[in-house]
Amino acid sequence: MSEAVGAVRHTTHFIDGRWSEPGGRTFPNYNPYDGALVAQIAAGGRGEAEAAVAAAHAAFPAWAAMAPIDRQRLFLKAADVVEQRQSDIVRIMAIETGASATFSVFQIRWSANLLRQAAGWGYLPYGDVLRSDTPGRFAMATRKPLGVVAGFTPWNGAFNLAWRAVVLPMAFGNTVVIKPSEEAPISAGLLQAEILEEAGFPAGSINVVTHAPGEASTVADVFFESSAVRSINFTGSETTARILGERAGRALKRSVLELGGYNPLLVLRDADIANAVNATVFGSFFHQGQICMNTRKVLIEQPIHDAFVEQLAAKTLTLKAGDPTRPETIIGPLINDRALASVSARVREATDRGARLVTGGTAEGRVYAPTILTHVPLDATVANGRYETFGPVVVVEAVADAEEALARAQATPFGLSAGIMTGDQARGLDLAQHFDTGIVHVNASTMAGEPSLPNGGVKDSGWGRSGHYAIEDFTEIRLTTLTHGAAHYPF
Ligand code: ADP
Repeated sequence: MSEAVGAVRHTTHFIDGRWSEPGGRTFPNYNPYDGALVAQIAAGGRGEAEAAVAAAHAAFPAWAAMAPIDRQRLFLKAADVVEQRQSDIVRIMAIETGASATFSVFQIRWSANLLRQAAGWGYLPYGDVLRSDTPGRFAMATRKPLGVVAGFTPWNGAFNLAWRAVVLPMAFGNTVVIKPSEEAPISAGLLQAEILEEAGFPAGSINVVTHAPGEASTVADVFFESSAVRSINFTGSETTARILGERAGRALKRSVLELGGYNPLLVLRDADIANAVNATVFGSFFHQGQICMNTRKVLIEQPIHDAFVEQLAAKTLTLKAGDPTRPETIIGPLINDRALASVSARVREATDRGARLVTGGTAEGRVYAPTILTHVPLDATVANGRYETFGPVVVVEAVADAEEALARAQATPFGLSAGIMTGDQARGLDLAQHFDTGIVHVNASTMAGEPSLPNGGVKDSGWGRSGHYAIEDFTEIRLTTLTHGAAHYPF
């Protein structure tokens, strides 16, 4: 896909098993840490999107009909290629997305594991035999793939979330067109195409079209207009999801929307404080707070508040921030200046209104220091649960008891992930049942993802589930009946 010219890559689209010819319009892809030019990316439009959909549509019947054993071989090979390319991928993600080596290696393992698990999904039961009230009638409901699934991938967990957009539909017999985020076109689409090409996936089964900033809707228009595209598979912000979900509704296409969250961690007075501190530091600051499952607020019972904040601050101050290409870096840069301005403004709004800044609140370049806020007014933007602050900022709030913690945790339109830290496991499980979220972890961070488990949200966090539960999102049920002898009709 990419030829290095000097140190700078030049990328093209991947359509029908071929990399498009270089030339034509491009746009620059910059390193969020130092602003250096990383690559010149092909700026696609209607023509490329139409060719990609046509290729995916043409490849669909053969891919859908492929024997499970043959698809399994391909997925297993792709997993091996992901692992073989680890050092290259870590470097690309650092310079393109600002990901630390820790986060990149996590994404690489997650992606290889997803590919290995999905390799077996072709053998899942794919229907039911049903009872009919009609004498002599045999009925069965069988699952069939939808057709072409259009994936919109994000820049944050660029590598593994793009794999999710590729693997879940393909494992159930769909072909895909991927429109990567303009902030991370290599990590969130082009790398996946390179790896599947190397693994020997058939031409047209995966297609990737990149586009310049501000031109997403030109490519998206083609997906919505095409009758071959049966589902819109989106991971990103709630604001964009509202636009795409509305368009999918008008076009009568299915949609899967994986959106943000405002994820609370409840820390009860019987919790192990060191364990709760570790869960918070990881949960709030992994990938500098730019993951939908990051912990945004800790609701902690008053008697342990001060001890917790003290230990939390001490551990937070040990996190190394700076250049993500250095192996020891934990906190890299925010993705762009808009993100930096938004995070800084929200912290400033809170402190201007009386919040206490325990750590952080400063930036060097785009690297924002991990920030702990206490005594934040409940209606401040960073604390009111209505907005995801996509940066390394955590609000710690003292509560009288678990019931108050639960009530405050629920006061948000989002419903992605939650965590409960307690020494009483039975109580933790009981409290977990009261959460209106897609995920609750008892005695672990809100930020815990395994590819086999059904991650996903409710309410404004969207819908759709990962793991093999994705069979619900990426297949349709077809009813087939067979009637023995002459059927009876009313006339
Ligand atoms: P962010 O603002 O954090 O980048 P978005 O939700 O805007 O998150 O982006 C997620 C994905 O949605 C990206 O692939 C982006 O290109 C795409 N996108 C953004 N706006 C539109 C739009 N109007 N139409 C289609 N796709 C869009």
